[in-house]
Amino acid sequence: MSNVTSAQDRWNTSLMPNYGTPNLVLDCGVGSTVWDVDGKEYVDLLAGIAVNIAGHAHPKITEAVTQQMQKLGHTSNFAAHEQGIRLAERLLEATGRTGKVFFCNSGTEANESAIKLSRLTGRTGLVALHGSFHGRSMGAISLTGQPKKHDPFRPLLPDVQFVEPNDVKDLQQTITDTTSAFWLEPISGEGGVLPATQEYLNAAQRICDDTGTLFVVDEVQTGIARTGSMFAYQNSGISPDVLLLAKGLGGGIPIGAMVAFDEYADLLQPGLHGSTFGGNAVACAAANAVLDLIESEDLMSRAKHIGAEIERALAPLDGVEQVRGQGAMQGVVLKQDVAARVETRGRELGVITNAPLPNVLRLVPPLVITDIELAKGLDLLARAITESS
Ligand code: PLP
Repeated sequence: MSNVTSAQDRWNTSLMPNYGTPNLVLDCGVGSTVWDVDGKEYVDLLAGIAVNIAGHAHPKITEAVTQQMQKLGHTSNFAAHEQGIRLAERLLEATGRTGKVFFCNSGTEANESAIKLSRLTGRTGLVALHGSFHGRSMGAISLTGQPKKHDPFRPLLPDVQFVEPNDVKDLQQTITDTTSAFWLEPISGEGGVLPATQEYLNAAQRICDDTGTLFVVDEVQTGIARTGSMFAYQNSGISPDVLLLAKGLGGGIPIGAMVAFDEYADLLQPGLHGSTFGGNAVACAAANAVLDLIESEDLMSRAKHIGAEIERALAPLDGVEQVRGQGAMQGVVLKQDVAARVETRGRELGVITNAPLPNVLRLVPPLVITDIELAKGLDLLARAITESS
């Protein structure tokens, strides 16, 4: 029996079946290459689902986390620390706007925090998109426009309406003066790497402004240099009231953030919200190291280069309908519903991607991926697409 099979058997016996049996059992990684427990090598074009911006085992992240743990690990929110203050200042600086930050531990928690914040506007109605994904807690799942994910958990949060992506008329008819907040992912990752159009983003901004609706932009997947800007909303000129971050922020260490701008920055008064681990010094040290790397390695330009390479390699293939997305967040839309087969064949050949929809593959590689690793991964993936189409 292989080491992978034996680990899968142990997983099945001791872990809940909510993820199904993982196809991969990984042992270690360096940069954008990982090895499983049988020693098989893979090019990682998924980066732990858009998390490992700096790849695996990056010396700067490892050093930052190790040094912080040696100096001061966990403090709880009874104490402030330099890493957290600095990280909040840097995130605000990256937006160029006036606001305040709340730290938590995941994308779900960032969304949950914003749901609570939206309640403090005095309104309750929430609007989100069909096909969207905002997390798995009861609040976040209520805003997730995927019945398969939320139906088993009814009753959900009341007063939530869903609109069609990129349908301005639907949005106009749904958002009113009683809507508390409109939730949007600039590119819906779990929804099939589906970008919001510029027209839709402009309309959303206008409608939210006209009705006094909080414009919540969920950049858990698109944020932190992935799309070629620090935040994807900056590619379009919109101006969210609340920005949600997680995934790439910690470069593999769990951290989430809610940034609320202008008059919304002080809504969460003392005692109204909190988290024991949120803004933990070690997680903030990792995030500060990620922001350092984005600057020193010019990872925003790198994200654009990665996107161009993905399109150049895969768009001309016979089985491919379209390559869509921005920067290093690309969806490969296939002509047939064979994305799961391509994912499996790719894994056999040594490349990791995933299939959020039956006809869409998602590529969200580390931003530090080398040209050699990227070319190898795309070659293997092209072969998997051709063999599966
Ligand atoms: N929001 C978006 C846009 C996401 O893509 C995800 C996760 O994929 C989440 C929220 C939930 O984040 P987490 O899994 O860290 O709770």
